Amino acid sequence: MAKIGIDLGTTNSLAVLYKDGQAVRIINTLGSYITPSAVSADDDDRILVGEAAKDRLISHPDRSTSEFKRNMGLRKTVELAGVEYTPEELSSLILKKLKADSEAFLGEPVEEAIISVPAYFDDNSRRATRVAADLSGLKVERLINEPSAAALAYLNKNGYEDGTYMVVDFGGGTLDVSVVDVFENIIEILAVSGNNKLGGKDFNEAIAKNFCSKNGLIYEELSSVEKAVIYRNAERAKIELSQIPMVMIEVPLEQDKYVLTLTNKDLISISKDIFAGIRDPIRKAIHDSRKKLEEIDQVILVGGSCKMPTVRDYIRQITGITPDTSIDPDTAIAEGAAIFAAMKNKDLKDVILTDICPFTLGIAVNNDILNDGSLMMSPIIPRNNTLPSSIKRSFSAVRENQDKVNVQVYQGENINPDNNLYLGNLEISCPPTKRNAKICDVKMTYDINGILIVDVTTADGQVATKAFRSNSSVLTDEELESIRKKMEDAILVSAEDEKYKALIARAERIYEESFADQRQVITGFLMNFKAQISRGDPIKVRETYKALSELLDNLEY
Ligand code: ADP
Ligand code: MG
Repeated sequence: MAKIGIDLGTTNSLAVLYKDGQAVRIINTLGSYITPSAVSADDDDRILVGEAAKDRLISHPDRSTSEFKRNMGLRKTVELAGVEYTPEELSSLILKKLKADSEAFLGEPVEEAIISVPAYFDDNSRRATRVAADLSGLKVERLINEPSAAALAYLNKNGYEDGTYMVVDFGGGTLDVSVVDVFENIIEILAVSGNNKLGGKDFNEAIAKNFCSKNGLIYEELSSVEKAVIYRNAERAKIELSQIPMVMIEVPLEQDKYVLTLTNKDLISISKDIFAGIRDPIRKAIHDSRKKLEEIDQVILVGGSCKMPTVRDYIRQITGITPDTSIDPDTAIAEGAAIFAAMKNKDLKDVILTDICPFTLGIAVNNDILNDGSLMMSPIIPRNNTLPSSIKRSFSAVRENQDKVNVQVYQGENINPDNNLYLGNLEISCPPTKRNAKICDVKMTYDINGILIVDVTTADGQVATKAFRSNSSVLTDEELESIRKKMEDAILVSAEDEKYKALIARAERIYEESFADQRQVITGFLMNFKAQISRGDPIKVRETYKALSELLDNLEY
């Protein structure tokens, strides 16, 4: 049974299996290793995930959605074909598809995964990711932070060498910069910084706006379809500029054809603000890590936007370091997650990934400040502490001749324990102790799996120990069951149907983007294809499929 690594991205998701020293990228039903993180309800209310759903964002915006990763852990729902979906439910649909595609590709069941999440994800967002995994039927022992996964992919390729690494992850709509320390097989994130409103989309927009101003068009006054056509062409031009020095954008609008040639130099001059926006998080991450720029040994670039030569050059200029090119920016995070999954399977030697405690753990003590018998929270493991973590603190008797200690354990940030989450208590007797004299030590040990161990040691050496499961539990069985029911009604399109549905979605999107005469041709081919599907003659279906694909290829390139 295979255990895969999954990069569940805001824009794109992918899965990798690490096997016999090789990273195997999972190819999906449409032949790509990248699956857009988009979901759409089709005309029969069945659920399309990936490329087809991305196309339907343009042709059927009311029935399609994307970027829900931004809302993980928030109560924001989206309605598709009359059904409300939470962000974790939408994510579970992506995971379900990756799981099914992996099983089809590998020819064996896939029941376990390591899923990556941004380092800044809080406890709620992480819990939502685990719920998504649960709903998709994947067992997830652990989540991995995206920068740790990127570092792991880099180390696995270049040898496990101690050092300080800067990971720049520049995706479709977010920039995350992290400083990661590697010391004797321990990978620790020292600092994270970023801008969750900056990404590849901004380049597309800058190019689209430049295209309009150069052609005397007013971007804001265009119809949404016209904007979409220019925008898609802008993105295509941007991606081509990663390979070739000059590209030409040609867009027919109304009666005229509008043209723009673009070089990387032009791209730099129209994207000044975007580049400026990359600099600050880099500076801040280095500052927060308490390292100097000279102490950064290597810069690791991940995320689709780091494939842009202009971005690479810019990062080289501001850091003075030539970024590593040994790992693929598209797959590095999924690869790192897969390598970690393989480690857990003991196919590889272990590394330890540290995590950060997303909340404060402490105990309730007498409120010395108010001194009115009320209780206050005394933190032992502070929020943002590196995990695993073990901290001991001493406490004094609050009464004369106190001969018993009752330690009440809480999780949360509020000074008043009542407003925090009560985890449980420990009681132990002790020799009578004078008021204000030391009565016991409380040690808390918290690991990455959410297990908290509390030891209370009294002055005469007695020890009481108790393990608590902190609030990282997912959902109750009943809650899970009721959501599962609802998700079962959301039937994913089968793999056979998906290819057809994806072609139809593409045709409908290009139809939206085309003009009257082209629309007529598209409609003709599309009707023919649909008719053959309902007639069910496989040879005719294949013929009309091929004809429609070729037509669309011609219209688009
Ligand atoms: P996310 O982490 O947000 O899920 P990705 O890391 O997959 O997303 O990055 C997606 C972005 O990368 C998109 O804006 C896309 O246009 C851009 N991109 C992908 N390939 C290239 C390329 N070859 N050159 C430039 N940009 C690219
Ligand atoms: Mg990403």
